[in-house]
This record gives sequence, C-alpha cells and structure tokens, in this order.
Amino acid sequence: MSVVWILLFFIYGSIFGSFFNVVGLRVPKKESIVSPPSHCTNCNRKLRPLDLIPIFSFIALRGKCRGCGQIISPMYPLMEFLTGVLFAFTYYQVGFKYELIIALLFVSLLVIITVSDLTYMIIPDKVLLPFAIALLILRWLIPTAPWWDSLLGAAVGFFVLFFIAIVSKGGMGGGDIKLFFVIGLVLGTMNTLMTLFFASLIGSVVGIYVLKKTGKGRKTPVPFGPSIAVAAVISYFFGADFVEWYQQLFI
Ligand SMILES: [Zn+2]
Repeated sequence: MSVVWILLFFIYGSIFGSFFNVVGLRVPKKESIVSPPSHCTNCNRKLRPLDLIPIFSFIALRGKCRGCGQIISPMYPLMEFLTGVLFAFTYYQVGFKYELIIALLFVSLLVIITVSDLTYMIIPDKVLLPFAIALLILRWLIPTAPWWDSLLGAAVGFFVLFFIAIVSKGGMGGGDIKLFFVIGLVLGTMNTLMTLFFASLIGSVVGIYVLKKTGKGRKTPVPFGPSIAVAAVISYFFGADFVEWYQQLFI
C-alpha cells in the first residue's frame, strides 16, 4: 500500500470519471459514446487536448466554454473528482486482490447511473446489462462466501424492489429494480438489504430537503438512483463492520 498507488488510482479514476460523464449523458439520448469527440453543447467547439484534463481544465476555464462563454455544468468536475476519490478509496480498502476488479467495475456503474439518473431520471438498460453480465461472470470466478450468496442477493434485491414497486404503485422505477439485481450479485444478501435500508434513509433526507427548497409538495420527482449508489458504496465497504457492531449491541 503506497501513497503513489493511491495517487495513481485517483488520477486514473478522474480520467475514467470524465468518460463516465460522457456515457451517462449520451447513452440515454441514444448517442454514440465515441463520436463526436467532447465538445461544447452550446457552440459545438471541440475541446482542446489540454481542456480534456479532468478537474484542472474546469478550473483553468473558470467553468466557462472558451468559445462562447457558456457555463459548463459543475457536474463534470464533480463526477471526475468523485470517481477519482472512489477509485483511490477502493484500492485503499481492497488492495491488489481479484476483488479489486469487481469493486472498480461496481463503483464505475454507480457513477454512470448517478449521472443519468440525476440528468434524465433514467437508469439505462444499455448501461446496466453489460455491467450485469460482466459482474455475473466475475462473481462466478471470484465468488462470495458462500458462493450462492451473490445469486440469492440478486434474487432478493430484485424481488424486494419489485414488491415495493407494486405496493407503492410507481414509486420505484424499473431501473431501480434492475439495479438492485446487480447490487445483489456484488454484495450478497445481507449487504443488499443494508443498501436498501441506507438508500431509503438517504432518499428520505434528500426528499425532505428538495421539498423544503422547492416547496413544490410531493409532485417533484426525486431520482432514487444516487441515494442507492451512495448506500451501495457504504454497504460494500462497511457492511461487515455494521453487522459486527449491531451484533455486539445485543450479545
Ligand atoms: Zn461553447
């Protein structure tokens, strides 16, 4: 575990984060993720190689397009920075084990769906499906203990969310249900249920905050994906600690 590696994971993470922004913003609009290259959505000015450096370019440009002065969404540098932090933290927690591949793929998926859900209120199948297949194969090669716990987790995640969707009559999107299938695969049963618990908690707090800020009543739809993403990261890294702590309270 060296500081150099942590720093490298941060740098690579922020570069990937810049790509995840593109994926999360373009896939729901059915646009290609490779062409056209990154450009200003207002004046179509192509970004210069220097402008493609994550985070720093935003600071250098002072958050505005060099061509037309259009304000660049702070979501770009925020997601780049966040992905950098997540990659560095993932390496710090997991180290060079096979599980690192699963963990990095998992946080990547969560960043992409956060971008799409925040922007369009959509968790696209085109993003979920390739990650689901890759993670299913990887969980077969790098199993949970016991190995069937990931399959049980996927089934529990899917059906519990499916049940909530029916009971709440549309309070839960199809994307959220499918996302919980993938979460189950990666986290196993216990941590998937913990994700649901934390996601509901975070979702309620965010919901109340949005309600107070907009004052628009219950009509304002709030995307649930970002809350699920935060909850899944907490449960993946600290789920076992929470279970241990909880058991100690009652034994
Ligand atoms: Zn522009």
